[in-house]
Amino acid sequence: MASITLKDLVKAYGDTEVLHHIDGQIADGEFVVIVGPSGCGKSTLLRMIAGLETVTGGDIQIADQVVNDLEPADRDIAMVFQNYALYPHMTVRENMAYGLKIRRISKAEINRRVEEAADILEIRPYLERKPRQLSGGQRQRVAMGRAIVRDPQVFLFDEPLSNLDAKLRVQMRLEIRKLQQKLGVTSIYVTHDQVEAMTLGDRLMVLNGGYVEQFGTPIELYDRP
Ligand code: ADP
Ligand code: ADP
Repeated sequence: MASITLKDLVKAYGDTEVLHHIDGQIADGEFVVIVGPSGCGKSTLLRMIAGLETVTGGDIQIADQVVNDLEPADRDIAMVFQNYALYPHMTVRENMAYGLKIRRISKAEINRRVEEAADILEIRPYLERKPRQLSGGQRQRVAMGRAIVRDPQVFLFDEPLSNLDAKLRVQMRLEIRKLQQKLGVTSIYVTHDQVEAMTLGDRLMVLNGGYVEQFGTPIELYDRP
């Protein structure tokens, strides 16, 4: 777990500034949803926190460390993507273990972590299957499993449920929330879906045109015009 601080954060592509002086503090263990219309800068902000985009101005702190210049692998974050990003030729077990194998973690420890995550996500029976033998919901769980086994301080979710049908999306939304509460990992979740944002977030950061329009609990935002 870790707090995250955004200080006067700016992103420009060439001469075009797309994020304008973003400030915000996310507490240890908090679940914050970044929500707003297409093009408002949600992905860019998340990708900056992940280290996949450079910082033009200001600072990103994770647990009191300025991470602006750290590589993604050195940030102690795990990202869950919308397209699952699973390797089709690998089994579920291999997919979940992949990010750990490159590090110097023993086989026994890798298996322990993979099986523990599989139990939490209720995908243990599918560990030896290939992704194509799984349903969409199961694949999304594997994608989450890959993030969990890294045992990160922060989870970053980039519209992870947008490829699922409406019913499954609601179910997985509840599962993500339960999982996050169980693990207590500080989480940032990007979506353009207001209902999803309201359901999931301890607080919502509402972006519009690269500005933070509002940042508060669902009740605070709902009561405001
Ligand atoms: P959202 O995730 O809210 O849909 P993005 O963060 O993807 O928004 O994009 C924010 C703005 O930045 C948009 O105007 C988009 O066109 C622009 N943008 C995103 N990526 C790039 C890029 N690599 N080069 C130039 N402009 C970009
Ligand atoms: P390492 O992290 O030891 O460099 P990995 O295979 O775990 O090796 O990761 C390779 C790259 O992909 C790193 O930049 C890592 O941060 C990133 N990466 C892998 N899996 C994830 C994930 N679930 N979330 C975020 N980044 C990831």
